[in-house]
Amino acid sequence: MQTLPLIQHLIDGQLVAGGSRSQEVFNPATGKAEKRLLLADKTTVEQAIASAHAAYPAWRATPPLKRARVMSKLKNLLEENAEAICALVTAEHGKVLSDSMGELQRGIENVEYASYAPELLKGEHSKNVGPAMDSWSEFQALGVTAGITPFNFPVMVPLWMWPMAIACGNTFVLKPSERDPSSALLVAQLALQAGLPPGVLNVVNGDKEAVDTLLTDKRVQAVSFVGSTPIAEYIYATGCANGKRVQALGGAKNHAVVMPDADVPNAVSALMGAAYGSCGERCMAIPLVVAVGDATADAVVAGLKVEIAKMKVGPGTDAANDMGPLVTQQHFNKVKGFVDQGVAEGATLVVDGRGVKVNGAEGGYFLGACLFDHVKPGMKIYQEEIFGPVLGVMRVKTLQEAMDLIDAHEYGNGTCIFTRDGEAARYFSDNILVGMVGVNVPLPVPVAYHSFGGWKRSLFGDLHAYGPDAVRFYTKRKTITQRWPSAGVREGAVFSFPTNR
Ligand code: NAD
Repeated sequence: MQTLPLIQHLIDGQLVAGGSRSQEVFNPATGKAEKRLLLADKTTVEQAIASAHAAYPAWRATPPLKRARVMSKLKNLLEENAEAICALVTAEHGKVLSDSMGELQRGIENVEYASYAPELLKGEHSKNVGPAMDSWSEFQALGVTAGITPFNFPVMVPLWMWPMAIACGNTFVLKPSERDPSSALLVAQLALQAGLPPGVLNVVNGDKEAVDTLLTDKRVQAVSFVGSTPIAEYIYATGCANGKRVQALGGAKNHAVVMPDADVPNAVSALMGAAYGSCGERCMAIPLVVAVGDATADAVVAGLKVEIAKMKVGPGTDAANDMGPLVTQQHFNKVKGFVDQGVAEGATLVVDGRGVKVNGAEGGYFLGACLFDHVKPGMKIYQEEIFGPVLGVMRVKTLQEAMDLIDAHEYGNGTCIFTRDGEAARYFSDNILVGMVGVNVPLPVPVAYHSFGGWKRSLFGDLHAYGPDAVRFYTKRKTITQRWPSAGVREGAVFSFPTNR
């Protein structure tokens, strides 16, 4: 039997083994196992937490500017090593290289924002809140913090979390997705090269056992999670029950409304990328179009059909391809099962990608773009997150009908409207019950200096990911009131509540 290269953990600045269980990591474009991943047991995760706990006092005491400098150096290293990082993303996730580059660039922008932490950590100061009395609020680090991340953005989502957590003075334990863990591990090694002291950032690979250890260990103060809604809900409940601050971002089912006055050819181009980019494996992907009026729906479906016929499906390493494979055989089966179900439920399958063949990559998990028309709210393909290259078109008569549909859906991550009518766009963005809204922007993923988060069952917790919210999530406010009365002046006891009256 061929021995596969082993993926280890990064604890206390060293690559280490740990845990008796392991699993294979596949290349989704070939269907072949190419690496073996060690799955951390409780003891291994506890070692990582102990390392982060020991590193915390010195890191917290390090001047913010020195901490920020590590982020600036890391940004340069990420740019210098972009090709190697993206090759790992594409080899394990399957997305096309240009998409891996886009994901890495968005991650780098989070590192760049984290390098402004000294400015963002500045507190609030008030002089003379009382006689000879000043008061200020400051934002103190929490201690050991942790992150648990999904497969679909293996390099970007970890960078949403730990750079800001660490720039704010915390130490961190990251548990990346077990399906494509290598890019996050390489980035963590680059962070050590950039000057992060051992123990400040640790990476444990693993599954539920590793996650549960992070959720229950008393030394972990806060947990950031991104993944599917059932797991997000579990993480939030378990983390909170164990006294931790938790933000848990979950799944999505994003609707794009196309109004009768929209520029349909441009809307179709935008929808192609939003529905089929990254094989639909994005939490901000658009799997649903809500067309207002039958004429709009007919034009959108006709346009999509033409564009889908031009799409190239194949390994992400070939720059000619638009869409790579799905991440695993199991996920391929699930997505294909949804397409079968949509047909059984009575939706019209306009384009069937199930039979796609990729020459020379027959073992890969390739599914061609699928397009349904006449999707209805009662259908499972409407209600559930498919997370694959499956786009459904729904037909409504008015904008209000489209909005009622969106508001009634359990998820509220992203949405967008295609229109030339400013009043309609303003009404939509003001009132829709969704956390991130695009107007003629299909993937309204906020830039690094805004924060990212959905509403309803797309996010459990109060603060969104990255941006200004991350500074608040990874710090605790402390308010200090200080008085230096003049020496020698005797003051009597005051029993009433102190005021400025
Ligand atoms: P997932 O929920 O299966 O896994 C996410 C993480 O949770 C992984 O690290 C995994 O090891 C861990 N995990 C899985 N099962 C667990 C269990 N039973 N107990 C404890 N930990 C467990 O998600 P995924 O398939 O890797 O990622 C896709 C999902 O993530 C989609 O639902 C997508 O919408 C969502 N997502 C959401 C956002 C967002 O910002 N809202 C961003 C990206 C992805």
